Amino acid sequence: MKRLFGVIGDPISHSMSPMMHNDAFKNLKIDGYYQPFRITPEDLATAIKGMKVIGIEGFNVTIPHKTSILPLVDRLDPLAKAIGAVNTVVRDGNDYVGYNSDGLGFICSLQERWKKDFKNEKTLIIGAGGAAKAIYYSLASVGVKKIDISNRTTARAQGLVDHCPFKCETNILDFPQARQNLGAYTLVIQTTSIGMSPNINEIPFSLENMLPNTHAVDIIYNPLETKFLTEARQKGATTQNGIGMFVHQGAIAFEKWTGIKPDIIRMENIVMQHLGG
Ligand code: NAP
Repeated sequence: MKRLFGVIGDPISHSMSPMMHNDAFKNLKIDGYYQPFRITPEDLATAIKGMKVIGIEGFNVTIPHKTSILPLVDRLDPLAKAIGAVNTVVRDGNDYVGYNSDGLGFICSLQERWKKDFKNEKTLIIGAGGAAKAIYYSLASVGVKKIDISNRTTARAQGLVDHCPFKCETNILDFPQARQNLGAYTLVIQTTSIGMSPNINEIPFSLENMLPNTHAVDIIYNPLETKFLTEARQKGATTQNGIGMFVHQGAIAFEKWTGIKPDIIRMENIVMQHLGG
């Protein structure tokens, strides 16, 4: 009998995860299948019970269920608990265990593309939403001691920092302050939805003060190069888009489900082909 996996969200038809995981099953000769499930918020609890009864071994969780699923799993990994969001569920015996692989996926992609010891860099995260929280908490959990945050709503950034269980020194900046002080950072991570298709001409703030020794990451992957990345490249910075984070969070989930590391380059090629890159 096929081993069953999937992703739950609403909407879900745009998800690139099924093509990425189904190709990995085929490539690794695993008799598995990964199915997208459109689940509305009202049906979430019933759907999770149903998935367990059917015998689904693991699934990803995307918008809008990443937080509302917390009380519906049997156990939570400590990092997912701290972040307050789950993007991967793994069956362990009769239990569903919730994990968050977004931040660790980001770290793996950063290590892959930028060969520096990121723990000692001067880091700025732009944004304080769910993705920023996963990245900030994951960086803090692996020992990064100082990360500044800039967000439109500075109170949200403060809340994110206040609830972080890992020690990390942080200054909170509004956008004009971040723009002014940009030259102080060697790693700048853009995590807001500003610049995402179709609003491709938007940028959080001008990068006129960015220095050429900066590594600039935008976790958006549609478009492949946001206005933020274009400006950073023009300032001489090295740049990286959100494909690596997406692929690595998927690869971490795949390994948790099967015990096998998938071929990252193959996964990335599939996503790039789909996005026309
Ligand atoms: P979220 O929780 O809704 O947070 C949105 C963030 O964007 C907040 O910081 C928000 O600021 C800011 N923002 C949105 N519109 C703004 C505007 N007009 N002006 C200023 N700030 C604005 O979303 P999320 O889940 O963190 O996702 C954020 C982005 O990351 C999305 O583009 C998503 O596709 C991408 N993402 C990529 C990956 C990947 O694997 N590559 C994974 C997850 C997410 P306020 O707090 O002021 O509202």
